[in-house]
Amino acid sequence: MLQKNRGILIVVSGFSGSGKGSIMKELMKKYSNRYALSVSATTRKPRTGETEGVEYFFKTREEFERMIAEDGLIEYAQYVGNYYGTPKAYVEEQLSAGKDVILEIEIQGALKVKASHPDTLLLFVTPPNAEVLKNRLVGRGTEEMAVIESRLARAAEEAEGVEAYDYLIINDDLSECVEEVHQIIKNEHYKVARNLAGIETIRNELKAFAGTEREGKTK
Ligand code: 5GP
Repeated sequence: MLQKNRGILIVVSGFSGSGKGSIMKELMKKYSNRYALSVSATTRKPRTGETEGVEYFFKTREEFERMIAEDGLIEYAQYVGNYYGTPKAYVEEQLSAGKDVILEIEIQGALKVKASHPDTLLLFVTPPNAEVLKNRLVGRGTEEMAVIESRLARAAEEAEGVEAYDYLIINDDLSECVEEVHQIIKNEHYKVARNLAGIETIRNELKAFAGTEREGKTK
């Protein structure tokens, strides 16, 4: 019998304002039994409506640097003046339990995860064009203009790194995007390279059958 695989580690990145957060929220709502969304630690201040332990674990710089020193993070990066990082324990636990674990992180972190976990699936979310991106950032109303400008500058830098990703998700329609992401992840499970243990089991079972057949014939 084919055994249940370890979950797949998935990184979702995208420009600030690409709508990746909304895609992840919907995906989790619709398929909560399949996916686990990692909650990152950050030194950024909470936005209105954000709750400790839901969107992020909010830390001081000292607390964050202690997590780094204690090797408690899979990866971390600086983004527009703040630290962001992925706590290790939860991700490992959920992968072992067979859940696909999603990290919603920026590009430097994504590349670090890919280097330490080469079988990570990397998805990049983009809005259909730059105008939509700017309007979403301004319309969100949660950041000052200077921060929006830094985020747009950062988006321009990140646009140069998209080639490192496996799939591009164009966020035109939220529910279509959610289904696309779900399908891509589902397909990933069928890759032969991710099923080598199961294939080995079947091979050995077939060899055992062939052996019994031969014995039967020689009797
Ligand atoms: P925001 O401040 O808008 O919540 O996030 C800013 C950026 O940091 C986003 O691109 C987000 O995906 C990224 N980010 C969030 N958590 C992490 C993390 O744990 N590690 C890294 N490298 N980036 C993160």
